[in-house]
Amino acid sequence: MQFPQLNHNPVRYEGATLQCSVCEKEISYEETDQFWITLRKGTDVVLLLSNLCSEDCKIKLPTPPKGYVQYPHKGGGDLKQPSYEEWEEANVVKFKLDDIKESIEKSKDEIPPLLKLINKIWEK
Ligand SMILES: [Zn+2]
Repeated sequence: MQFPQLNHNPVRYEGATLQCSVCEKEISYEETDQFWITLRKGTDVVLLLSNLCSEDCKIKLPTPPKGYVQYPHKGGGDLKQPSYEEWEEANVVKFKLDDIKESIEKSKDEIPPLLKLINKIWEK
């Protein structure tokens, strides 16, 4: 998924002025510097558009969750986004097959029949 390019194409809302997303200072469309930023909101990860009055306010934006672009950005086709593998590594807990096998070995006498069956498949 690509982010819309913001460099020459700022997103406009109703009205002539904007507020800085960080310090809430009133700014015009000529003054605003717009960036996309991915942040966690409750249990969701959402893409937000930030309007910034200054470099100082840009620095104050929170850091995006792991597995997403780690800084505010302008979007467009040249943006390097984390790969699915990088996202997965940061967001999905994976069990190593060997760890599972080992824990099955250790508790062989007490494992339910279905787990024993799976263990047999691996031993082939
Ligand atoms: Zn500001």
